[in-house]
Amino acid sequence: MGALSICLENLTETPRRFLLVGDHDWWSRCRKILKEPESVIEDPFRLAIEGHRIGARLLFRGSIAGSATLTCGRCLEPYVQAFDEPLQLLLEPAPAGERLPEGGLELDPEDAALGRYQGDEIDLDAPVLELLALAWPVQPLCSETCRGLCSGCGTNLNQRSCECEAGTARRPFSGLRELIERSRSGRDEAGERRRRR
Ligand SMILES: [Zn+2]
Ligand SMILES: [Zn+2]
Repeated sequence: MGALSICLENLTETPRRFLLVGDHDWWSRCRKILKEPESVIEDPFRLAIEGHRIGARLLFRGSIAGSATLTCGRCLEPYVQAFDEPLQLLLEPAPAGERLPEGGLELDPEDAALGRYQGDEIDLDAPVLELLALAWPVQPLCSETCRGLCSGCGTNLNQRSCECEAGTARRPFSGLRELIERSRSGRDEAGERRRRR
């Protein structure tokens, strides 16, 4: 039984609350699926949901919350990123004869709030990972105002300032701009010489 599994015999027409915890073992499996092999779980992920039956269908509502240690894309320091994502899931029984993947649950590829189930127990890994993948920052940042590393000397500008020119330090590509300007004026001089001849 997976960390985020629910035994369907526990579900009735009256909503019931479940609190399931994705611990370190669960995370070491999941982070590969999320393609975040380096990330370390900080707070175990807690799935707090209410589930009940509507005829043959199952309805779940709740949230997944937890945190992981990521690396800031600007200053390259580790920081803790918190997640708290609402989850809603409506499942209908899989048609007879159809074989669902392990875990007894298959999500609608178009809408992760819908899916099919099968068997006596379902594993909520798939919808939870879907939510986390969407919530995962494309560019992890320790803070919106992170000042990053100085492009000149590599100093972490959140911790202290450096001796480099203030203007240069805050513009990582200013070196490139200088090159382009130098090459342009070089070309102009060459053209100038050609014209003079
Ligand atoms: Zn940072
Ligand atoms: Zn510097």
